[in-house]
Amino acid sequence: MGKKVKAIGLLSGGLDSVLAVALIKQQGIEVIGLLIHTGFADYKETSEDGKHSVADIAEALGIELRIVNIYDAYWETLLYPKHGYGKNINPCLDCHLHMIRVAAKIMHEENADFVFTGEVVGQRPKSQLAHQMKIVLEESGIEDRLLRPLSALRLKPTIPEIEGLVDRSKLKDFSGRQRSPQLHLAKELGVENFAVAAGGNCYLISKEYGNRFKDLLQQYGKENFPKEEMPLLRIGRHFRISKTAKIIISRDESEYHLLQPFISGRYLFELENTIGAIGIGVGEFSEKDMLLTSRLLGRYSKAGQDEIIHVNVRYQDKIYDIQTSPLAANDPLIDSLRI
Ligand code: SF4
Repeated sequence: MGKKVKAIGLLSGGLDSVLAVALIKQQGIEVIGLLIHTGFADYKETSEDGKHSVADIAEALGIELRIVNIYDAYWETLLYPKHGYGKNINPCLDCHLHMIRVAAKIMHEENADFVFTGEVVGQRPKSQLAHQMKIVLEESGIEDRLLRPLSALRLKPTIPEIEGLVDRSKLKDFSGRQRSPQLHLAKELGVENFAVAAGGNCYLISKEYGNRFKDLLQQYGKENFPKEEMPLLRIGRHFRISKTAKIIISRDESEYHLLQPFISGRYLFELENTIGAIGIGVGEFSEKDMLLTSRLLGRYSKAGQDEIIHVNVRYQDKIYDIQTSPLAANDPLIDSLRI
């Protein structure tokens, strides 16, 4: 008896990746689903209702799920993308190449026959245009063992199709951004109930996150990029006060708590006797920077514009007491400082 055909499928939990797995699985091929964490996306690995995580989806599809964290190695891809960034700091083409290389390595280790993804030609501007898909084939080292079941009929046959390991006639010819063919297929394959929005929500495509990342790049450069600041990029309002000073101001009580672990080694700005936000200062603050930051913090407090506010600034063993007035909510300076 010959060896059973085996494939490695990238599985984010989003509909397209689920459909690709279902299509391949339908042909009696053994599938290992691969969830790759870049460290810059939220994935539901588990869920309380047992229906909406990638693990739940893998179980419903009847496949093994492997979770691979590439965060450390991903920095090189993020800081030095050969093919550049998308609209923000999303290095989609290089990111995709990185993931395919990881999948290809597992394909070899597992003695599997091919790798497949849920990509659809022309669906996303940066990594799924036909010529970019070709770049991934050429540069990932996987050669013609990368199959895109949802768009296969629009692409050159791959080795598993040529060798008859996969029945090409059962693959699809989807293209573009329309979702209706996928929704129709989901119904046909009976996956519509669990193929939910469990797919990764990548921060790198967010404009706000991108601006904050670029600000760090500008201040520290690629060589000295402060990776330890990354968790802070997703919390609070960020303002660049001066070349050396940046402040992060909590937006609500939950962010007040989220910021607590980051106080040590940084400046802490707190209002005295006034209800309002806290600020975590990163870098070096001159007295002028502290005054401006205190006025900004006052803007996000219950203090009236003409009130005098007291702000305590703590840094290492020093405490500064600053008395000033809040900036007006419509002061254009606020937007000019915002990152
Ligand atoms: S959106 Fe994010 S995870 Fe997806 S390819 Fe682009 S950079 Fe990678």
